[in-house]
Amino acid sequence: MVLIIAMVHHASETSKLPPMLLQYLDYKGRYPEALLFFQVGDFYEVFFDDAVTVSRALNLTLTSRDKNSENPVPMCGVPIGVIEGYIDRLLAQRFSVALVSQKETLEGHKGPVERGLDRIVTPGIQILSHSTIGRAASFVAAITVDSRNEYALAYSEVQSGIIQVRDGLDIKRLVGELQRIAPAELIVPTMQGVQRIDRRSAWVRELEVQLSETALRFRPERALESDGERHVSLAAVVGYSAQSPMAKRALRLLLEYVDEVMAGSRMPLVEVRAESDSGTLLIDSMTRTNLEIVRNNRDGGLEGSLFQLLDCTVTSGGSKLLKQWLLAPLAEVRPIIERQEAVTDLKKSWERKTLRTLLSRVVDSERVAVRVDLGVVTPRELAALRDTLATLPQLKDLLHRIGALPDKGQLAHIAAKLSPLDGLHRELSKVLQDEPPLATNQGGIIKEGLDPELDRLRNIAQKGKSWIEELEQSERARTGITSLKIKYTGVFGYFIEITNSQLAKVPGDYVRKQTTSNSERFFTDELKRREMEILGADDKALIRERELFAELRTSVKQFVAELRINAALLSQLDVLSAFAELAEKEGFQAPQIVATDELRLLNGRHPVLSLMLGNEFIPNSLQMEGSQKKCLIITGPNMGGKSTFLRQAALLVVMAQIGSYVPAESATIGVVDRIFARIGASDNLREGESTFMVEMREASSIISGATERSLVLIDEIGRGTATLDGLALAQAILEWMVVKSKARVLFATHFHELTLLEANYPSVKNLSVGSEDRGKTIVFTHRIIEGPASRSYGLEVAERAGLPNGLMRRARTLHNELMVKEDAVKEKSPQLSLFEGVDQSAITTLPICAEVRPDILRERLRSLDIDTIAPRDALTLLFELQQQVFDGQDK
Ligand code: ATP
Repeated sequence: MVLIIAMVHHASETSKLPPMLLQYLDYKGRYPEALLFFQVGDFYEVFFDDAVTVSRALNLTLTSRDKNSENPVPMCGVPIGVIEGYIDRLLAQRFSVALVSQKETLEGHKGPVERGLDRIVTPGIQILSHSTIGRAASFVAAITVDSRNEYALAYSEVQSGIIQVRDGLDIKRLVGELQRIAPAELIVPTMQGVQRIDRRSAWVRELEVQLSETALRFRPERALESDGERHVSLAAVVGYSAQSPMAKRALRLLLEYVDEVMAGSRMPLVEVRAESDSGTLLIDSMTRTNLEIVRNNRDGGLEGSLFQLLDCTVTSGGSKLLKQWLLAPLAEVRPIIERQEAVTDLKKSWERKTLRTLLSRVVDSERVAVRVDLGVVTPRELAALRDTLATLPQLKDLLHRIGALPDKGQLAHIAAKLSPLDGLHRELSKVLQDEPPLATNQGGIIKEGLDPELDRLRNIAQKGKSWIEELEQSERARTGITSLKIKYTGVFGYFIEITNSQLAKVPGDYVRKQTTSNSERFFTDELKRREMEILGADDKALIRERELFAELRTSVKQFVAELRINAALLSQLDVLSAFAELAEKEGFQAPQIVATDELRLLNGRHPVLSLMLGNEFIPNSLQMEGSQKKCLIITGPNMGGKSTFLRQAALLVVMAQIGSYVPAESATIGVVDRIFARIGASDNLREGESTFMVEMREASSIISGATERSLVLIDEIGRGTATLDGLALAQAILEWMVVKSKARVLFATHFHELTLLEANYPSVKNLSVGSEDRGKTIVFTHRIIEGPASRSYGLEVAERAGLPNGLMRRARTLHNELMVKEDAVKEKSPQLSLFEGVDQSAITTLPICAEVRPDILRERLRSLDIDTIAPRDALTLLFELQQQVFDGQDK
């Protein structure tokens, strides 16, 4: 509280504040990190510094309470009815929101109204949010660190009830993992044992820099056993006991935060899963961004992303699962084939449309399950669950018919595991009205005939209401006032309304209740008595309905586990049928999935670009077979289509490894364990890194991470520095890939010198993008052909870009002069012309760590001029030769 009061710089003395604001500060003290919205009548108001923040974030007018005082308190507010939209906007800006609502009405109330915390919603934990529209999966994560600087990570999409853990990570892997998961919130410990963790320490800074989209929350790490009850309940959770102490600590830290946000309830936890690298295709954040897998690079939206293309799902659960599959595709043959077989069955079936129509009507059972568990599920949600359960038997039948192998395969598995929960369905149908209201503060939830007491109360209320309708008729007749009306308002109850012009006719037994501008309101003793009967019965009926609904909620609770399983199965089915739908619509083919390091795409198409360009898109083939020709160097004109070709290969691999068909006439894909895509240059100036630094950082992460099973795309490396440095680095990186990593590599470059490497390495092959010289114009065919490009077309592309004629003339002159020089150098040495002026014997096209080819070694020694070489260069050469021969082995 003291701290919070300090924050209130506008109010000189809190004692002068009205009780309502003191109540506000009290809540703010309990939930300091959240923006606090406080219900005042029909508005949610925000005060003090939060008001300033909220008004800026939501573009609301900032006013102040008590404008005339010396220290007016800033405030802003939004009407209750539209609060959800505003919360969504604040979450998108990474704020958390705490909603404190009134527990009684303001009407005639003296002193502070009773209020209570309604819910806290944070960017990562949104299960208590009322808004469900278009909500993507959001993760919350926690980390712990030990004295050897090893990290453990726990993360969860809270509503799934599953926490995933990893441990034994160094900071680099930790950052990589976090970038992949992209949690909305990350809990960082401020204590490790008895030691305080310095928030300014290097690794915390690294997290802040690398995870710019994530809100960091700092929390002390408490002893594992501090909460005995939680500890016992954790021990019973599937998978918990098997985790390492570090992973358990991270998990605890995560749970504590989630429980705190859930204010009173606890995270419904069903399983703890340890994650490992095997089985998953790792895609780091650089690659995910470069390939535009889940969002585009332009504005971070969905447009143009692979996710948007593939998302033909019809349920929100399916769409969320598809995104998860895309972020972590499979990396083992069998599970991929299982998914693919299900897609094939669904693609062939004429009943797929019916299946998808049924699916489109199912409720998000995972969300319902968690809301049941928390006791906040609404009547409308349970009715939707009832309707979903009603469709499950039909869905199961359909699946049995569609699956080629009725007892095997994914579809059979889904059919077998989907549970229509007959008992639950019967109960929901018996208890709930066909279309119950959204919330429990209105009646009409429970069916007639279920509960005699409720029926009796409803009957009284109903009879009373018809008595009032009859009274209106008879009073009109008795008084002769045809405009006489009996009306009802929440504040004044029932009354007889007579317009001013008819007042003379009012009988003597009418008692005046209220005067309005053009009428008078009356009651009679009989009307008063009936009113009490009706309202009493209405209130009691409502209370009874709530009781019955609470019983229903409790009895549904026992089915939470089954509901979760159903939800997971329905989401899988939705994604698989979406793949089938897309394959059918776009003519995609099933790739052959193998365990070798082949990669063959016959007439492949870039999934997103080819959809945009239609027939104008030129398909291209790619062939990497076994250890031969694993490294393809692609040269060719700017705008020729090199990047597209690279991206296409990676996107098709991703599609294949999530189980989808691919846009190619045929494809063989040796399962890839990691994809790295370094494409284009982007500055990271905000984080103090230049284009070249970013390039080299990315190269370094590829060098350290790529394995023989990886796919590496490098598009333009070494361009952000002096030509010689760049070329040397590009060559060295390429050679490292070929000799050390032995990964499958697609290397697009404008350094034509690198095409000479084909002669040095059996696994290197040159490809280029075709172009046709048609007199004055050059046409890029976008077709990938064998062999290196004959020349580059930078000047032509620049001209097309609209540079002035005079400038282009000058560029041509300079180009010609450079060409003359280059030819002269080439005559001297057929090797890399760019190395003019540099001692050729020290730096040549020869690899720094080659597959040792004796002929090249011999040639190098032979061409050495012993009389002229400087002692220093001789030593360098000797060192290189030694490296070459022993290739890092013990000498
Ligand atoms: P640079 O060397 O300048 O980076 P690039 O060779 O990498 O260029 P891309 O960026 O792949 O060229 O392609 C440039 C444009 O060419 C694309 O935006 C697209 O419009 C078109 N294009 C590329 N590939 C194809 C294709 N296979 N069929 C049709 N159009 C294509």
